[in-house]
Amino acid sequence: MSVFEAADFDNHDEVVFVNDETVGLKAIIAVHNINRGPGLGGMRMRPYKNSKEALQDVLRLSKGMTYKAAMMDVKLGGAKSVVIGDPRKDKTPELLAAMAEAIDHLGGRYIAGEDIGTNPLDMKELKKGTQYVSCLREEDGGLGDPAPITALGTMHAIKAGLNHCNNSVDLNGVHVAVQGVGNVGEDVCRQLSEAGAKITISDVYPDVVERVAKQYNADVVAPEEIYDVDADVFSPCAIGAIVNDDTISRLKVKIIAGSANNQLATEAHGQQLAEKGIVYLPDYVANGGGNIVCAAEWYKEGFGGVLAQVAKIYDTCTEILEYAKTNNTATNFAANKIAEERFQN
Ligand code: NAD
Repeated sequence: MSVFEAADFDNHDEVVFVNDETVGLKAIIAVHNINRGPGLGGMRMRPYKNSKEALQDVLRLSKGMTYKAAMMDVKLGGAKSVVIGDPRKDKTPELLAAMAEAIDHLGGRYIAGEDIGTNPLDMKELKKGTQYVSCLREEDGGLGDPAPITALGTMHAIKAGLNHCNNSVDLNGVHVAVQGVGNVGEDVCRQLSEAGAKITISDVYPDVVERVAKQYNADVVAPEEIYDVDADVFSPCAIGAIVNDDTISRLKVKIIAGSANNQLATEAHGQQLAEKGIVYLPDYVANGGGNIVCAAEWYKEGFGGVLAQVAKIYDTCTEILEYAKTNNTATNFAANKIAEERFQN
């Protein structure tokens, strides 16, 4: 199969396959669209079943980055990279050096950041071989971990949803079900707890879920039961494709707003949510806070304007909700339309 025939190919500018047998590197870098600026996106490392699965992931994720950057109004385009391998076993300095060389060859059309399976220390390692890296620790010249900023943006999206449904952004007594309490999800719980929300959580790691539940006085359900929780808000902060044919009929919430990428299994599931009366805040808007801080780091703007820019996620969500209502369309289609107007011109 050629990349042009792949189901998720979306007229991407450039898709580069990287193969370096001497260090065991098999990677794909996808640059979706760089009309607004260089394509910034995480470098994901996972033991993909095969290259088809890796290609599908990188094509979808890089496209999402274009839409995210446009909605966050940063001077960035969309790109992403995936490395096929187990980060705990296969991530060697040699592999990272080879990946840095491949990134450098793209001459700045792709800027790498952290993602699943990579971290700020890996970015430091990449930096030895290329300048086109972001998401570094403060001690390495960066603006630090983007996760708390992503969580802050997710809170703004939740509040925009609440205002739409309740005419109030007050979280006191509002019940939120959080799926996944890792870097972002735990910070969402912290902020929800401070605002007096009732919290129910799930995670696949029992020790993590126990610690977070205790700290923020949250109820716990098994991972598979999170879709059945009778809450006001569902906040997916773990994996993608969790709004799908199996889960959609089980959801009892009024609002979905979370940090996970690609929450809808397909765009049609966004339409189904709208038909069910569930207000869906599109993932690439609700999780755009990290993109804002990485852009500020890349352009050496410092942290000064970041929080004000992240607060605009509330206004962007409101704009999407109004556009969807006026045009009688689902929020995911509304967001896509607004983003496309911003990056296609
Ligand atoms: P993380 O790996 O720290 O946390 C994810 C958590 O989800 C982990 O604790 C994991 O055990 C849990 N999990 C995995 N599968 C689960 C399941 N089926 N049910 C319940 N829990 C499950 O990752 P993170 O940095 O917190 O990111 C969370 C999501 O947000 C990811 O989809 C990521 O791509 C997205 N995101 C993160 C950022 C960021 O700044 N970190 C930015 C944008 C988007």
